[in-house]
Parts: sequence; structure tokens; C-alpha cells
Amino acid sequence: MRKEGASFDLPIALSILGASGDLGKAEDLQDVLSIGELSLDGRVRPVRGALSIALRARDSGINHLIIPEENAPEAAVVKEVTVYPVSTLRDAVTVCIDLMAGNETRIKPASPEEAMKPRAEPKQRIDFNEVRGQQTAKRALEVASAGGHNILLIGPPGSGKTMLAKRFPTILPPLEFEESLEITKIHSVAGLTNGTGLVTERQFRNPHHTISQAGLIGGGSIPRPGEVSLAHNGVLFLDELPEFERTALEVLRQPLEDKEVTISRAALSLTFPASFTLVASMNPCPCGYHGSGRECFCNPFMIQRYVGRISGPLMDRIDIHVDVPAVKFKELRGRGVPEGDTSDVIRRRVVQARKIQLERFKGEGIYSNSAMEPRLIRKYCGLDEESESMLERAMTKQGLSARAHDRILKVARTIADLERSEKIAPGHISEAINYRSLDKNYWV
Ligand SMILES: [Zn+2]
Repeated sequence: MRKEGASFDLPIALSILGASGDLGKAEDLQDVLSIGELSLDGRVRPVRGALSIALRARDSGINHLIIPEENAPEAAVVKEVTVYPVSTLRDAVTVCIDLMAGNETRIKPASPEEAMKPRAEPKQRIDFNEVRGQQTAKRALEVASAGGHNILLIGPPGSGKTMLAKRFPTILPPLEFEESLEITKIHSVAGLTNGTGLVTERQFRNPHHTISQAGLIGGGSIPRPGEVSLAHNGVLFLDELPEFERTALEVLRQPLEDKEVTISRAALSLTFPASFTLVASMNPCPCGYHGSGRECFCNPFMIQRYVGRISGPLMDRIDIHVDVPAVKFKELRGRGVPEGDTSDVIRRRVVQARKIQLERFKGEGIYSNSAMEPRLIRKYCGLDEESESMLERAMTKQGLSARAHDRILKVARTIADLERSEKIAPGHISEAINYRSLDKNYWV
């Protein structure tokens, strides 16, 4: 059988030793799975996808896993399987001999408790209250988090768009264990987990606008996950959205729609999970200063062409756009500006609103307001007369599209949920209308 990659070096070596009688009877090793690349001096080198391999061992009823020591922490997350970290072929042979003799192994198994601990180096904590001012943008991000909405931040350079986006994962709901497992599997397949255990934080992926299509959605002769999958259960931040290649943005449509991405090659086709929140940012115009108080040298045609670089179908997946104006000097220095809520406080409100949605959508097959289809929007976003006429006025006066209409209702639903209000009130509608700044100000 033809093999791909070098991960089968170790099992092949052990099989040869088994078949030649040097390890006793090969049948005795049926309860052992091994994986690892061998270097010519007998050292065992790490492989990709150790967590998935450990899960496969568990699901096949195999109890022992011999694995390169760099991969042991992630594999040990699967506590039903005993994981033996080895650094040489000799170590692996020692484990086999001890197991067959029924002895305690001289190589100590990896500890599941250790693997479950958060990663050793605690990343520098960042918090929403470090961003001064920008109350509207912060509020919009809270709404986005609460309803699972994608969001576009529009503002001049230096207004803090990136700073805000980076803090978005800190107000998403805490990770469930199963979500951590999914993320760790993807990072493991991408070769990003060596020496570390479970990924315990939501990811923030921030690819540069020069990224290739393969880098963004995944690719290679043996397909590897791209940024959309590395951002699974977390945030994909596309800074300067109009600068991305149009073809690269086009391929985002499938993952945004299906929450997964399929990469087809001649030999095989692979599907990776890709359920992320899209946070994008852009300048209001090519020079960056349209509407900012500083002089802008762009004419309407240039602005229209700039905004038009983002395709309509992609814009259709973004429920919220919000202006992030240049920060006033006073605000920057924090003088007279309230600090605002910490990420923990905001996150508590988000979790509460998500609970309401989980309850609401029981049996509907979706989990958040952003996923509502027209049928569900009609079912759950009923309006009273005042809200209805307010929405109608906005539609005609501000020339909002029919597509914007549904988005406003979904976002209004989330705003009402944040207030634990069963009904959507006029205040919720008017706030949601404000989150269509691109339609109102730029989209011609
Ligand atoms: Zn300009």
C-alpha cells in the first residue's frame, strides 16, 4: 500500500520488529496504535493530526497509543486512551515489550490532567475597557457577539478598528469542551499544536490582504486547513477588506453560508469545519478620510468604486456595519471619558442573550439570530405598528434595500434579546437601522 508522508515510519519499524520475532508475538500488539516519523538515527519526530489519531484510536477501541513526545500533550486530551510519549525507536520498543509482558511501562504515560490545562504561557490579557471612547462601535460589537452576526467596521486610519476587532473574542461566549476539541483537531492537522495540549481560547485570525485563495480557505496537494478553518469557533478578521483580491473574497461565500469548506483535489476531497464570525474593516474611501473632518480628496466615483470592490453577495452576509470615527484627542487621553464595561461584564450579557436564542430555536436547527431564514424572521421578528412604520420610513427615506430589511429585523431581534424583551420595540428597530451605515452613506 502506497503511503503519504512519513507518519507511518514508526509503525512500519515496529511491525518489522514484530514480524521478525524481536518483539515477541505481533498479535499481542493489536491493542497498540503507533504513529511517528523516524529519522535515520532512530529519533522519533512529531506528526500532524495527533489529536484526530487519538480520537480514532478511542473510537476503534484501541487502548494504547505510542506517539512522538511533542504530540503527546494534545493526544492525551483523549483520556480513554493511554498515551506513551516516545523520543526514540528504542523508547517505542521498550513500551511494546513492557505492555506485552504485562508490566508497568518504563516510559511514563502522558497525563490527561496536564493536557487539559490552559496553555502554559498566558497570553497578555486584553480587555474591552482599554479602548477609550468608541461607544457606538463597542455596542455594535456586543450586539454582533450576542446574535452571532458578522460585522464591518468603517473608519479612517488610526481610529482603533484593529484594536476593537482584536478584543472581540474576549466578549464571545466561553468555549465549550467540544468546541475546544474541534479547534485543537484543526490546529493539529495544520501542525500548529506541537508541544501544547488543548486549545482553550477562541482564535483570532488576521490574515494579510495579500493572502492567496489557498491560504484563506485551505489547499495543497494534501489539503491543509486555511484561515477560515483556523478561525473555527472564533474570529476571522479581514483588515482593509477592499484590498483583498476579489477572487479571494468570492471563496468566502461557501464557508460563510455552510460553516464548513470543501477542498477538492484530483486525488481526494476534504471538508474542514469553518464556523467563524467575520469581522471586517475598511476605510470610508481610498484616501481614508471621507467624513472624518480631515480633508478627503476622493470624488464620489472613486468612493463608489472603492466600496464596490466588495461583492454584493459578501456584503449580504454582513448584518452590521458601523462607523468608527477618528478618536478625539480628549478621548484618546481618557480625560472625561468613562472607561466602559470590562470584557467580562459584556460577556455575561452576551451569554444571557445567547441562552434566550438557544431556547427560542429548539428544534429549528439553528442557534443564533443571525442564522434565521426569511421564514423564521417572519415567525420571530413580528413588529408593532409603530416599529413597522418606523422601518418603512427608513426603507423609503434612506433607500434601504429589501435585503437590508431582513438584516435590520435580525439585528433588532438580538438587541431585544440583550434587553430580555420578548417584543421588538421601536428603540430596537432604530438602533438596528443605524447599523446599516454603508447602505445609508456610501452604497450608491
Ligand atoms: Zn477620501
